Amino acid sequence: MIDVIIIGAGPIGLACAIEAKKKGLKYMVFDKGVLVNSLYNYPLNMTFFSTSDKLEIGDVPFISHNSKPTRAEALEYYRRVTTHWKLKLNLYESVENIKKEKDQFKVKTNNVTYKSDNIVFATGFL
Ligand SMILES: Cc1cc2nc3c(=O)[nH]c(=O)nc-3n(C[C@H](O)[C@H](O)[C@H](O)COP(=O)(O)OP(=O)(O)OC[C@H]3O[C@@H](n4cnc5c(N)ncnc54)[C@H](O)[C@@H]3O)c2cc1C
Repeated sequence: MIDVIIIGAGPIGLACAIEAKKKGLKYMVFDKGVLVNSLYNYPLNMTFFSTSDKLEIGDVPFISHNSKPTRAEALEYYRRVTTHWKLKLNLYESVENIKKEKDQFKVKTNNVTYKSDNIVFATGFL
């Protein structure tokens, strides 16, 4: 039995997983691609318009060479956050269908069907 299923391992999904972990909830995070999949697919030489302090999550400092970090620095940062918080992630597992049955959700991925009390959609803009 899972307390919360988080769909998306972008910055918001990771921040939600950290909060779930802090509260001792049994959580799962699914992403259809790699860790921070959207950032991974940014143009290679892209620079954020936000300063690194605005992109920090989970009390892990984000120090970049310039005030606005690059894609590569962000990928390294969110990997570090995941390691620091020992987050469990199901990568390359896409959520395909969700059904509500009584007080539970049945979440079907490309792999298995899970049951969870709560769902967080952290799927970004797309
Ligand atoms: C070129 C560019 C520059 C940007 N610069 C900035 C910036 O400087 N500052 C800023 O704040 N924002 C910026 N953004 C926006 C930035 O992408 C978002 O702020 C950030 O990624 C949002 O995080 P998120 O976790 O909400 O969504 P995302 O990072 O988009 O994460 C969503 C995740 O959900 C996964 N997903 C979606 N559907 C499913 C499914 N069915 N099953 C499993 N997984 C799924 C995706 O693979 C993805 O990993 C920029 C965007 C682009 C394209």
